[in-house]
Amino acid sequence: MGSGTMVGVTTTDLRESAEALLRDLAGPRARLREDQWTAIDALVRQRRRALVVQRTGWGKSAVYFIAAKLLRAAGRGPTVIVSPLLALMRNQVAAAGRAGVVAATINSGNMTEWDDIHARVAAGAVDVLLVSPERLNNPDFRDAVLPELAADAGLVVIDEAHCVSDWGHDFRPDYRRIRTLVADLGDDVPVLATTATANDRVVTDVAGQIGTDTLVLRGTLDRESLHMSVVHIEDATARTAWLSRYLHELPGSGIIYTLTVAAAHDLADVLGSHGHDVGAYTGRTDPAEREALEQALLDNEVKALVATSALGMGFDKPDLGFVVHIGAPSSPIAYYQQVGRAGRGTARAEVVLLPGPEDRRIWSYFASVAFPREHIVRAVLDALDFERPLSTSALEPLVELNRSRLEMVLKVLDVDGAVRRVRGGWLATGEPWTYDTERYERLSHAREAEQQAMIDYQSTAECRMSFLRRQLDDPALSGPDPDTPDCGRCDNCTGVRPDTTVDTADLAAIRTRLDRPGIDLSPRKQWPTGMAKLGIPLSGKITDGPATGRVLGRLSDLGWGQRLRPLLDGPDAPVPDHVVDACIAVLRDWNWDQRPTSVLAMESPTHPKLTADLAARLAHIGRLRDLGTLHIRPGRPPVSAANSAHRVAALHNSWDPPPLDDLDGPILLIDALTDTGWTLTLAAHTLRAAGAPAVLPFALATPT
Ligand SMILES: [Zn+2]
Repeated sequence: MGSGTMVGVTTTDLRESAEALLRDLAGPRARLREDQWTAIDALVRQRRRALVVQRTGWGKSAVYFIAAKLLRAAGRGPTVIVSPLLALMRNQVAAAGRAGVVAATINSGNMTEWDDIHARVAAGAVDVLLVSPERLNNPDFRDAVLPELAADAGLVVIDEAHCVSDWGHDFRPDYRRIRTLVADLGDDVPVLATTATANDRVVTDVAGQIGTDTLVLRGTLDRESLHMSVVHIEDATARTAWLSRYLHELPGSGIIYTLTVAAAHDLADVLGSHGHDVGAYTGRTDPAEREALEQALLDNEVKALVATSALGMGFDKPDLGFVVHIGAPSSPIAYYQQVGRAGRGTARAEVVLLPGPEDRRIWSYFASVAFPREHIVRAVLDALDFERPLSTSALEPLVELNRSRLEMVLKVLDVDGAVRRVRGGWLATGEPWTYDTERYERLSHAREAEQQAMIDYQSTAECRMSFLRRQLDDPALSGPDPDTPDCGRCDNCTGVRPDTTVDTADLAAIRTRLDRPGIDLSPRKQWPTGMAKLGIPLSGKITDGPATGRVLGRLSDLGWGQRLRPLLDGPDAPVPDHVVDACIAVLRDWNWDQRPTSVLAMESPTHPKLTADLAARLAHIGRLRDLGTLHIRPGRPPVSAANSAHRVAALHNSWDPPPLDDLDGPILLIDALTDTGWTLTLAAHTLRAAGAPAVLPFALATPT
């Protein structure tokens, strides 16, 4: 034994303790896998650094919870787990509690509890501290809390460790801090990095970043339940018709992935109109609603969620029966990771890819926004001061970036040392900064190679599973005793091809629905969590919100986006005739349950003439009762953009509704722009309480 090992504890004793903890975690019949034990032994007894690359569901969290508990029993400090999945780790944390592991979480949602948690950590009352990667960039946490934690940590765990690597498909600027964190640890502090998917390049990179002699434990990527196929249908509407026809034949419930938010909503709308029980799940879906949708899928209450990649890491449904892609992801790793959610605990799961000719254009769009060009980054640096901090929202109008890309640029500049986050915002440090052209070019080349691999996957005549496994450097395909390469299950192995014909009546119906002017405005379904803390008695399902509304167009669309933007960005003016005509077309094709009998305009702080004029003209043309404007109550607090809960709290009871007692039908509620949907939801809530039988919201535009 070398220095730093646990003197006096035999391997046998340690293994027995580890097996006992696993039984507490996973049930009386659970046994450690050999690789789980190897990792635990390496961490606890040898205090080594280890990288575990195993598929989701293999039991990576058991390794770190057991190692954490054994290290605590040996008198070591708490385990610090850095994970982007904190919100999704509730179940594991509850299970760890049964094994006597005391866990605490530090994230942006529980700032008020930090001092208390910090005190408990200092008193030795916490075994596991879960930290979100974003915390590592928070000035208070980084300067005051982190150094103490790093000094006392018994074990550091980096979950989803592929995010550390530039080569990872999901690199996150926050994760660059982890290099510093690990570098500052003592030599005898073990480190465990875990990920489900990493090719050779990512494995080498991550292993090198966490230590010089890292133990790598890597499992096979094969999954015998997956039956993979590719369905080639050139026309996008025909692909939708095909899916609508075959969806009920797919086993159990599953996920349908799309490449964009708009595609997810459109597809969910079409499938829903054809009688399929589906829900849309995207990056714009509120956390409370995401949770409800995930639960509906877990409970098989829906056939499928139509989702973007926002439904991803950490979602674990062992009996997920299928994953369908309408549009191909841009890399084999991203594709494998998404299809790997199917068939974890079932004998058979279907994996179907329906690529489209438009996929490449969407990939180029996402690539072009991945990291901004040098002159844009320079503009951010130039806008910042050395002494007077600027908040992100103050900075936003000064540069050509939206909020999320601006935040990403600031994080990268922060890690590079060119800017510094302080209380109140961001400062320039004056450190010279160079645009890492070489790095971005290198990443750009890697991205192009991955895109080509996805194109090749679609046309390959080889086994599809082995094609993907080779792309991901599956260790089980090489070495002294390699797996048989062909899966024997995919369309290329079996020669069985799905029928690609579509019903012409289906096709016509879908085309009519997709060509219909305007887009759906799905009502919010859940109040945000934590409203009670803000003194507002709203929770759970929304029962008195608006009906499904309609929007004339998306600002991001080429068609209506170009025409609506000047109306909303320019000076306030009455609505032009051609816009009124388009609105009438949307209203005419709206399949409402009951025709509205009155019209009401939302008071718009920026475009009062536009909204009031539109409402008045629609009332006149449709012979509806004109209720005028829904006025904002004087003294309404500013509506914070920080999060849904604060937004709802500010909007709650913030209008003075007109008398509505004698209404005999729904109100058509008119607004210029709807973004999060909370304003219309709360306005409808107010109107319903004042006696409106139903509220049909209609807006000129939505951002995306
Ligand atoms: Zn095959």
